[in-house]
Amino acid sequence: MPAQVDLHMHTTASDGRLTPPELVRLLARNGLRFVAITDHDSTEGLAAAQEEALAHPGLELIPGVELGADIPEGDVHILGYFIDLESEELQTTLQDFRGGRDERGRRMVERLAEIGLAVEWSRVEELAQGGAIARPHIAQALVERGHVETMQEAFNKYLGKGCPAYVSRSKLSPEDAIRLILRFGGLPVLAHPARYVKNLHTYLPSFVEAGLVGMEVYYKDYTVEEVAWLQRLCHRYELIPCGGSDYHANGSADEVAPGSVGPPLASITRLKALLS
Ligand code: AMP
Ligand code: MN
Ligand code: MN
Ligand code: MN
Repeated sequence: MPAQVDLHMHTTASDGRLTPPELVRLLARNGLRFVAITDHDSTEGLAAAQEEALAHPGLELIPGVELGADIPEGDVHILGYFIDLESEELQTTLQDFRGGRDERGRRMVERLAEIGLAVEWSRVEELAQGGAIARPHIAQALVERGHVETMQEAFNKYLGKGCPAYVSRSKLSPEDAIRLILRFGGLPVLAHPARYVKNLHTYLPSFVEAGLVGMEVYYKDYTVEEVAWLQRLCHRYELIPCGGSDYHANGSADEVAPGSVGPPLASITRLKALLS
């Protein structure tokens, strides 16, 4: 049976390629019951998504966002569900993050030019369609210009951490990202921990102390062993098992269909219980 819940997906409000209404229609067609759109540093797609969701009564759209944070070993992503979209302070904060993405994207394009891989910044902006700029937009521009065959190659050779065109951007600590989501009424959940957070067990106590409520146990291409390990960790730290496809509609080799992976319905009940 396909999943009924998918709590991690992107739209043109960040690095996804479907508009929010297009994604919602696809999810309704696939018979999903609870879904969350979690664009990077943006909730700009949620109003249009919500409007489309009204036309599909069997589908409930949970407002979400994905924030980037830094640890010494790399990146940590924190999802925030049911965050207060109306908060001006939240929106100003997200705008600042998007400004940082813009600045960093421009610097990456400069670095690419220095190593002989010209792409136009204006094209990167066009590909982002007004959404939060992210490395996949630059990767797509590199593919278009014939500098690489695939987005994956662009990441492996040029855009990944430690590669020649990589530029970091200033990010929050994971604990600050967790507290930020809590401050705006949201529920903070650790995204895709198995691959990104090498020493997860050393970090989790501090994340939980900061207010983390859940962790992605079900994700895109996790193995049975990874799922079992994360389930045990959720149990130990009393975290709600969450997850989803991290769908971007960008046709990358590791992409899975939206709604093909997600947590059980019981996780929705547990998340909602924390709101009351
Ligand atoms: P950014 O937020 O600009 O750092 O870009 C990160 C985004 O790039 C992630 O959300 C993924 O969508 C994508 N991404 C990260 N690493 C890779 C990779 N190795 N291959 C393809 N896409 C990636
Ligand atoms: Mn992304
Ligand atoms: Mn992520
Ligand atoms: Mn994501």
